[in-house]
Order: sequence, then structure tokens, then C-alpha cells
Amino acid sequence: MAIAMEEKIEAIYQQVKARNPGEDEFHQAVKEVLESLGPVLVKFPEFAEQKIIERICEPERQIMFRVPWQDDRGEVHINRGFRVQFNSAIGPYKGGLRFHPSVYLGIIKFLGFEQTFKNALTGMPIGGGKGGSDFDPKGKSNNEIMRFCQSYMTELYRHLGEYTDCPAGDIGVGGREIGYLFGQYKRITNRYESGVLTGKGIGWGGSLVRTEATGYGAVYFVREMLKVRKQSLEGKTCVVSGSGNVAIYTIEKLQQLGAKVIACSDSNGVIIHEKGIDLQMLKKLKEVERRRLADYATYHKDARYIAEGNIWEIPCQVAMPSATQNELNGKDAKMLVKNGCIAVGEGANMPTTPEGVHVFLHAKIAYGPGKAANAGGVATSALEMQQNASRDSWSFEYTEQKLDQIMTGIHQATYETAEEFGAPDNYVIGANVAGFIKVAQAMVPMGLI
Ligand code: NDP
Repeated sequence: MAIAMEEKIEAIYQQVKARNPGEDEFHQAVKEVLESLGPVLVKFPEFAEQKIIERICEPERQIMFRVPWQDDRGEVHINRGFRVQFNSAIGPYKGGLRFHPSVYLGIIKFLGFEQTFKNALTGMPIGGGKGGSDFDPKGKSNNEIMRFCQSYMTELYRHLGEYTDCPAGDIGVGGREIGYLFGQYKRITNRYESGVLTGKGIGWGGSLVRTEATGYGAVYFVREMLKVRKQSLEGKTCVVSGSGNVAIYTIEKLQQLGAKVIACSDSNGVIIHEKGIDLQMLKKLKEVERRRLADYATYHKDARYIAEGNIWEIPCQVAMPSATQNELNGKDAKMLVKNGCIAVGEGANMPTTPEGVHVFLHAKIAYGPGKAANAGGVATSALEMQQNASRDSWSFEYTEQKLDQIMTGIHQATYETAEEFGAPDNYVIGANVAGFIKVAQAMVPMGLI
């Protein structure tokens, strides 16, 4: 029975690969989820009868469009815009926009696919979607960013709505970009539809804690994994890759909980500061001045900057990949384990390659996959939508408490699901199975959608 089921799932995977050629990241994300689903189909035969897996792997709608814009010198540029509306079984599509030159359909589809299960895990009524562009915001002026965002929204607005599709930020899209996007949406539609975008400024519909939420949430998830093992973050040595939104607030919460963060990175290199990362300096460099991480070492003479360095070579007890997909491979994972790493919490989406995941699971260290560990961002986006719908705004303390409860709940659900499906301590199986069941159980009663 089990073998027949695995063959069936393998056939579905091969079909997904053939139907979506060249989209390696999407294949990788699908494979990881499908590998967890054998026992689910045995327990819920209606999912196989209704072809739920085949349907979940096919986005409900994929939108690609031209984004023309002019730079400060008047030169015309053309980028490509994307929005993949993956699954709306449990709520309107929700998921961030990524602006990065590496963006193509395969990246947006992997992110949208993952988002569907992540959003289900939060327990909130949000479906999965993701979007973005191959636009590179690095080195662009504020005016160029504004013109690009306005052009992007001029096409995208017709596909959005607070009951339809509600984007947020991701790599290259933060508060500034959300402001320009929201301004243009409001202008075109003549509606102050707050819930259509999240990550808004505090004075115009944003939620306290949204900026911090992904990083804080990932740390809460690690705290819970360690608690099960009768350990805590207090006094632990940590490394956090990246130095963007997720990395900065991961570092902040780790420090608040008594851990010591000795390294972070960007796409050019690594900063090692044995005394502990100076968070105020990092925030000033990255959030206010929008400078490169290398400049950190000019302010702290006892910090070392290693151009093209590999952050995973630095011995640590807790590692939190918070930059981008496939940034941690099998070799890196082996090195981390060898150097005494006991927990990995993924702030980024799919940062560990399948070989790396295998190493962590085999070594039986606490490994929290992004789907579960970084769900705090989207969960707090849903809290922002709740505040918008009730025309209310909550205090920082109250919102953070809600985030903590949600992350603790996700940890518990993934932990218990893994146990129920015969894979104790395996949060990959726990997250994939719990997320999938929630979406599938909503799809079945809705008929052939
Ligand atoms: P930011 O744009 O704020 O920061 C991204 C960081 O990652 C930067 O330090 C950047 O370095 C680095 N980075 C990006 N691409 C690469 C690359 N190809 N190679 C090496 N380093 C890279 O993005 P976020 O912090 O918002 O996002 C980080 C990760 O977290 C992503 O995987 C995202 O999908 C995920 N995530 C984000 C959420 C959110 O709420 N923002 C929610 C859930 C997940 P550089 O400046 O040199 O490019």
C-alpha cells in the first residue's frame, strides 16, 4: 500500500516537473512537500480521489506583465512583473512581493507554493500567493523606486483587492516600497482599502510589530524547539545570515533572550564581531543609510569583514539562515553540526538545500523549516488586516503577545503532527503535513475548484 502510494506521488512529481520546465526552485519546493504526503493519502483517501495534490501544485492563476519605467536621466527601462495566485481555499491570496534581479517565474512559484502551507499553519484565513519583479532596487534613487512601484501597481491593481489578493513585502520590498505601491493603488481605485497591502506605515493603517514579526517569530520558534529539548537560548552563540529586515529583527530578539550573535552577512561578505553584533549600528547602516555591510567594520575596529566569506564556517550553537533560498548546502550543514550547532531556525524561505536538510535531520538537531519558523511575518500581516477591518490599532505589547501565541501554536501543531505521522521531532514532515491537510480539507467540500 505504502509503496504504491509513493509511486503515485512520484508520478505526480514527474508530471509537475514536465509541466513546469526549467523552474528548479519550484520543483525543489514541490518535491519536499510531496515526499511527506504518503501517509496523508493513506489516512485521507478522498484527497487522492479528488486529485488534491495535482490541483494544489497548479496555481489558480499566474500573471506576468511589462513594467516600463524611467530612470533619473530619462532612460527607459523595461522589467517583468509577476503575481502568482496560488491557492485561495482558506482565504484571499496573501504573500509578499520580491524585487531582485534573480526573480523569474520559478522563484515566484516556489515562494507561492510554500506560502500556501505556511499561511494555513498560522491558523488564519489567508490563502497563498507571491509576486515581484526582476527589478534591482540596489543603487536606485527614491524617485526611481517610486516610479518603478507606480508602474508596477498600474498593472497589478486590477488583480488585487482586500477580498481577492493582498500582497506584502519580501526581499527588496520594505516600508518605502509598500508606501509607493499603496499610494498608487489608492490613487487608481479611489478607495482607501487598507487591507489590500500589509507592512504599511504606522500612521496610515500599519500594525506595530509587523516590521519585527518575521525575525521575532523565527526566534520564538527556535525557543520552543529548544524548550522541548530542555534547553534555552540564554547564553547561546548564534550566527544570522543576511542583514535585511528578517536578519535584523532575528538578531534583536536573540539578544533580548540572552543569546550572543557574533556574525551576520550580505551578498558580498560576512561580518564577525566576537563581542556581539552592535544592533543599533547595524540598523543605522541598513535601515537609515542603506549602506553595505562592509562599512560596519569601519565603525568597529574589533569586527572583521570577510569578503565572499562563508558564514556557516563560524562555530555556533544556533544558526538562523535569513537571507535567501539555497544559501546553506550539504557541506555547510555538515560543518555546522561538526562545530556543535544544536538548532537551526529558518527566517528565509527554503534557505537550506535538500542535502543540507538531510544532514540536519540525520544529526537529529532541532531544525525548524521556513514554512513553520518564518510564518510570524505573514501572521502579523493578517493581524494588520484584522486591525484594518475593525478600524482599530493595537499596542506593541498586545500584538507581540499575539505573535508569540501564534508561533507557539505553530510549533505545537507541527511537533504533534510529526509525532502523529510517525516522524517525531521532524518539523519538515510536521509542517508539510499539517499545512497540506488544512488546505486539502477546505478544498474537498468546495467541489472541483
Ligand atoms: P531584505 O531585502 O530586507 O534582506 C535580504 C538580505 O538577504 C540582505 O542582507 C541581502 O543582501 C541578502 N540576500 C538577498 N539575496 C541574496 C543572495 N542571492 N545571496 C546572498 N544574500 C542575499 O529581505 P528580507 O529580510 O525581507 O527577506 C529575507 C528572507 O526572508 C527571504 O528569503 C524572504 O523570502 C524571507 N521572508 C521574509 C519575510 C518578511 O516578512 N520580510 C517573511 C517570511 C520570509 P544584499 O543586500 O547584499 O542583497
